[in-house]
Amino acid sequence: MAKSAAAVRSDPYRNFRFRVEIDGIVAAGFSEVQIGETATEVIDYREGNEPFHVRKLPGLHKFGNVTLTRGMTASMELVNWHRQVQVGDTANARRNVVVIVMDESVSMPEALRVLTHFYAHESCGQCTPCREGTGWVHKVLVGLEEGNASPRDVDLILNIAGNMMGTTICALADAAAMPARAFVTKYRAEFEQHAALGRCPFRSEEPRLAHAHG
Ligand code: SF4
Repeated sequence: MAKSAAAVRSDPYRNFRFRVEIDGIVAAGFSEVQIGETATEVIDYREGNEPFHVRKLPGLHKFGNVTLTRGMTASMELVNWHRQVQVGDTANARRNVVVIVMDESVSMPEALRVLTHFYAHESCGQCTPCREGTGWVHKVLVGLEEGNASPRDVDLILNIAGNMMGTTICALADAAAMPARAFVTKYRAEFEQHAALGRCPFRSEEPRLAHAHG
């Protein structure tokens, strides 16, 4: 009997609602996240000798603190980053840090497909690895969900993402490739299950296509 979609998932953070990604790799899970208030000051001013007419300019932007509580990490990424900030090495400590809310009912290939669709849409098309790579990864992920992919396509995603890293003139291709590699590496069994079943196991319907996998 086929295992359920959740059963194939090897996820140390499954009991934590909030996942913290550092540079596209899930580094920790937390139970609570508090995000402070964000505000932009408004500056009133009078232009020249304009009589009694107040104009407004945007002033300082204030960003509240993000507080993560009750969590766990299975890597040193978050700890090392915290240490760098503590010793004042903020220039090298800069990272893309993302907090994601995701529960057990989310299909990882589907989550990656949605993310990749965004990057494919945003690619300006100037660099071939980005223009072709984002669209290609998205196409493979659609195939995984619709039953038009084979287990070999799981490695194809890794190959395409690998060819996108560090080969373009802006960071968008890397930003698209890093989560693709992280999702497939971390949740590989789930991607393979999609390919073997010929459908998304998080949905109840039967496979749309019968597969003969070589
Ligand atoms: S990497 Fe940047 S510049 Fe190159 S195609 Fe993608 S969005 Fe355009």
